Amino acid sequence: MYDLIVRRAKLVDGSLTDIAIQNGKFAAIGTLDESITASRTLDLQGKYWVSAGWIDAHVHCYPKSPIYHDEADLIGVATGVTTVIDAGSTGADDVEDLYQLTRQAKTNVYAFLNISRTGIVTQNELADMAQIDKLCVHQAIKKNPQFIVGLKARMSSSVVGENGLKPLLRAKEMQKENNQLPLMVHIGNNPPNLDDIADVLDAGDIVTHCYNGKPNRILTPEGQLRDAIKRALDRGVLLDVGHGSASFSFDVARTAIKQGILPHTISSDIYCRNRINGPVRSLAHVMSKFFICGMTLEQIIACVTLNAAKALKLSAKGQLEVGYDADLTIFETRQQPQVFVDSDNVSVEGESCLVPLVAVVAGEAVLTDEGKANHVITL
Ligand code: ZN
Ligand code: ZN
Repeated sequence: MYDLIVRRAKLVDGSLTDIAIQNGKFAAIGTLDESITASRTLDLQGKYWVSAGWIDAHVHCYPKSPIYHDEADLIGVATGVTTVIDAGSTGADDVEDLYQLTRQAKTNVYAFLNISRTGIVTQNELADMAQIDKLCVHQAIKKNPQFIVGLKARMSSSVVGENGLKPLLRAKEMQKENNQLPLMVHIGNNPPNLDDIADVLDAGDIVTHCYNGKPNRILTPEGQLRDAIKRALDRGVLLDVGHGSASFSFDVARTAIKQGILPHTISSDIYCRNRINGPVRSLAHVMSKFFICGMTLEQIIACVTLNAAKALKLSAKGQLEVGYDADLTIFETRQQPQVFVDSDNVSVEGESCLVPLVAVVAGEAVLTDEGKANHVITL
């Protein structure tokens, strides 16, 4: 007798499977005998897709942030996302508050710690080197090792002021002193120049806003991949989408993906304003844009499951394997013409969109907003 059995779920390779969950973990996966029972059974009749729970590697959900605030469940389970990572809204001063304020959420919440102790309270948190305090960072990580999954450094001109590469070099030192935690680096306007940023990065470091259309884009004016980015990718540096209000260009994404420069992780950089007014709306909406860019369903889902869990070192997530955390996203794909808008206000028509219906977090199933509106699955 299990807690939950999801029957006849369609995997992204097209095969069907049953999934049994016990005590918040996957307990059995494969065809299960009809005689096996559970407290609750959800029969998908081969109609709906299932994947490991979606992980959004770049969001903002510190409710008290003066600029980039949101509620974890509105960008999480309500849209089929089972895990969100707040990307540096808080630094050492407020990360404990972020932790406490997100404990009631159904969505799993983790954080990248901003290397500036103030976090994104202002837009120029790395303009004063005195705010980048190694001891504070070390103490915050020591206090919350399960919550803080990495460090965040926003390396664009408005953020670093006159400091150039200095904040990033300090972030690299902090990373070494703190168990080689993943480091997420935001890119946008220069200086510092992207080539200089990329040359400092090592395997596992994450470049977010990877398809931005600003001066620090990954392509040359001729549309070729910059040499420094090519070298970085060869070393194992990872590309994260981080769509956001100002950091995703269809033109850059399509040109890069055509050359085989796929994202490792697809993330939204969502917060209340770009969720409600666009162009982000939800992780599913951002994922759907990658059909237009030429990616397959399997590739897109890998970016928010296996790839994201690996990049963030979430070792019990991202895969449908016995013993892993029982997080699932149940969704459908709809073929209907729809207009998608990027961060440069360019509109492109797409035909496929992903519609999340149910989020399962540690074995607890909840209907998403679309799931509630559609009535195709009842819990
Ligand atoms: Zn950013
Ligand atoms: Zn962000």
